[in-house]
Amino acid sequence: MQTTPIAQKEHQPLADYATCVQHEHWTRQQLEEYQANALHACRSYAYAHSPFYQQFHRGLMDRPLHELPVLTKATVMEHFDELVTDREVHLRDIRQYLAGADQTKLFLDRYRVTVTSGSTGQPGIFLNNRIEGAVAANTFIRGQIWGGITSQSRVAAVTSPLPAHVTAQFPVLEVDGKQVPYLQLSTTVPPKVLVEHLNEWQPDVLIAYPSIASVLTDEYRQGRLHISLKVIFAGGETLTEEMRRRIEGTWRVKIFNMFGATESAPVAGECSFHTGLHLFEDFTIVEVVDENNRPVPPGQVGDKLLLTVLYRRTQPLIRYEVADMVRVSTREPCPCGRPFAQLETIVGRTGEGLHFQTLTGKEEAVSTLQFETIFDPLPISGWQIVQEADGLHIFLLGALEELRSEQVLQSLREFLSRRGLVIPPIEIHRTTDLAKNVTGKTPALISHEKRSAS
Ligand SMILES: [Zn+2]
Repeated sequence: MQTTPIAQKEHQPLADYATCVQHEHWTRQQLEEYQANALHACRSYAYAHSPFYQQFHRGLMDRPLHELPVLTKATVMEHFDELVTDREVHLRDIRQYLAGADQTKLFLDRYRVTVTSGSTGQPGIFLNNRIEGAVAANTFIRGQIWGGITSQSRVAAVTSPLPAHVTAQFPVLEVDGKQVPYLQLSTTVPPKVLVEHLNEWQPDVLIAYPSIASVLTDEYRQGRLHISLKVIFAGGETLTEEMRRRIEGTWRVKIFNMFGATESAPVAGECSFHTGLHLFEDFTIVEVVDENNRPVPPGQVGDKLLLTVLYRRTQPLIRYEVADMVRVSTREPCPCGRPFAQLETIVGRTGEGLHFQTLTGKEEAVSTLQFETIFDPLPISGWQIVQEADGLHIFLLGALEELRSEQVLQSLREFLSRRGLVIPPIEIHRTTDLAKNVTGKTPALISHEKRSAS
């Protein structure tokens, strides 16, 4: 007889947006006291209900956060069933659920499932119950409210087509108790069709990956896209300074960059002063560390981040490693008066994207995030694409036998052709090991192809 899960019986103040707004008026000291209490609640819950954490933090349960071991995605996936705090949750069942057609239904009637491979090509699976989902939604909403979305706004978002991808789970916005009109488009739609939809919908707010916002900026410059925007929200990929200048200059609006939408809901966003991205420190504790997990002081770029998501109970993430390179600002407090520290720079992950020839003879980059839409739903434990002079080599790790190579080839060819790209020869390899780069990481995309100087 299984016991009924007790996850989330405790009060979760962050599920109420009005409470989150109050936190913005705190002093730094009030924020730090809150963090200490929230961290204590998060750890106590994990120690009481997660067999994994009982082992992983054995002998360390009363030690400060920075003394705890670092949690990697590989560990989360390897110890999935013991890490979660609901004993009815099993990774096998989740994989079956993800392979099934209807993901609009909740897993076990209570969990929303998110799949993301980030830049590593190894999909991680994350669960949120209803309350955790409401809290995560408030991180999106906070960023969007800061950017000036009102109940009068008209929003268009270009997001992942996968229901299990975090960006496809953008909350349906409500401002002042009113539903904001909202059009959701998929990144797999060719630019020409996106333009048609946007011209018809006439949004004044655009939410998109930087790469998509760039494509739409070109469409606007060339006179095909006729919309007038008040604000653009970017996230999910690195927004370079060059991209920002070009997009903002063309549309004559400000970009509000959001950060952290790969493994979790946003962990930082820009306020209207645009002096950096405020960390949402009432939701998540972010440690910037070097490659040996030693803290990196503000003003210096770290090698990675360790996230402790204070509100997660179903699947606690304590010192969870994320490969992004960021720098915490050393500037004076932001003029907006919020108590949250700021990220000054997001260097991002190097080597994002493979380059392909378009049918019109140009070159176009396709990012990891875009490939995720094909590979994350497959019954595999990892993937990697290596671009060679003779074409694409797709490596699939731990692929189940029933997965037909032809099916993978088909969806990849369709994906490339929808984007107007020349389809190179593609070969599928089933493997038990993915190639690592010099830093020992397993990049999802590797290119051995020499690029033209353009
Ligand atoms: Zn500010």
